[in-house]
Amino acid sequence: MAALPMIAAEPNPSDRLKAAARVVLKIGSALLVDQGTGQLRTAWLAALAQDIALLRERGQEVVVVSSGAIALGRRQLGLAPGVLELEQSQAAAAVGQIRLAHAWQQALAAHGFTVAQVLLTLGDTEQRRRYLNGRNTLGTLLKLGAVPVINENDTVATTEIRYGDNDRLAARVAEMASADCLVLLSDVDGLYTADPTKNPDARRLETVTGITPEIEAMAGLPSSAVGSGGMITKIAAARIALGAGCTMAIASGRVEHPLRAIEAGAGCTWFLPARSPRQARKLWIGGTLVAKGTLFVDDGAARALAGGRSLLPAGVTRVEGTFDRGDAVVVRAADGRVLGRGLIAYGDEDARAIAGHRSGEIEALLGFRGRDEMIHRDDLALD
Ligand code: GLU
Repeated sequence: MAALPMIAAEPNPSDRLKAAARVVLKIGSALLVDQGTGQLRTAWLAALAQDIALLRERGQEVVVVSSGAIALGRRQLGLAPGVLELEQSQAAAAVGQIRLAHAWQQALAAHGFTVAQVLLTLGDTEQRRRYLNGRNTLGTLLKLGAVPVINENDTVATTEIRYGDNDRLAARVAEMASADCLVLLSDVDGLYTADPTKNPDARRLETVTGITPEIEAMAGLPSSAVGSGGMITKIAAARIALGAGCTMAIASGRVEHPLRAIEAGAGCTWFLPARSPRQARKLWIGGTLVAKGTLFVDDGAARALAGGRSLLPAGVTRVEGTFDRGDAVVVRAADGRVLGRGLIAYGDEDARAIAGHRSGEIEALLGFRGRDEMIHRDDLALD
């Protein structure tokens, strides 16, 4: 058998959960909704809310991606067991989501936290402009102390344009929010080399550092005890997370207080990225995007950028090209030297209108209060 793509395990990878500044937590339907009765597992949710409160008390930010809308709604609508048609799933999601959001709101309000419901579609995470809006909203909610509880907007998502699984959605959310840790809680406790119910040699991988063909083959084993579909989407999520510099864990939610269990060293599989979310984002901006325009900046702005600051409109002397908010642009010094690339917060017309002006004048010039920065430092990759 080929060597497994594992590294000598870190002393304790579970410390990564404790150390993360921003954690995305994905909870599968089977954990939240009792398969027999179709009822919410409120005691389990209350225990999980205690775990979340613990993270928050330590100063960690938490984003929840919660499944369960369809599972909750189908029972309420009296839909027969079995596979639902798309229209039925959409109807069930509409009924279930309101209950799901309410349950989260109650569970987290018990610890004094405000819950914000965010429903996303595939397009919201794939189209740069909407992606940036989502990113800004999540950032604002977290800054204001809320706990975003996210689900796919199943009611409007049709087959071609839906995730259908919250594993990949959660990974996109982690990328969007530049989270440093993503935990997929489900009924499996990790990735196994083979079906553990059939193969006595099957073992759970402790750490994975890259999504190699061997790893994909493990996820795709048709007889896998962990359910092939379920593991395939988890590995797809891991690929997104690792690309975004986000550590990911596949961990069991079958216990009460699953986060405490992880921190106490409960078995799970850790996917360890090669770089930080910040480095990954800069790499993406600097290397993979086609620039649609150019901003020329004055010497003061060039110095501010070199010092790690954002690019303000006041320092921009000329705007070239046609671009939308969220597009990549090249930033050049007065002498034409390339300083870097970044995602611009304004379309080209607005950028021209505010170039050379103080941020306080933006509202008067454009008629709306846009961002103070032309390019925020998090969206800038210097050469
Ligand atoms: N968005 C679906 C729901 O809330 C869940 C998708 C999944 O199970 O991953 O029911």
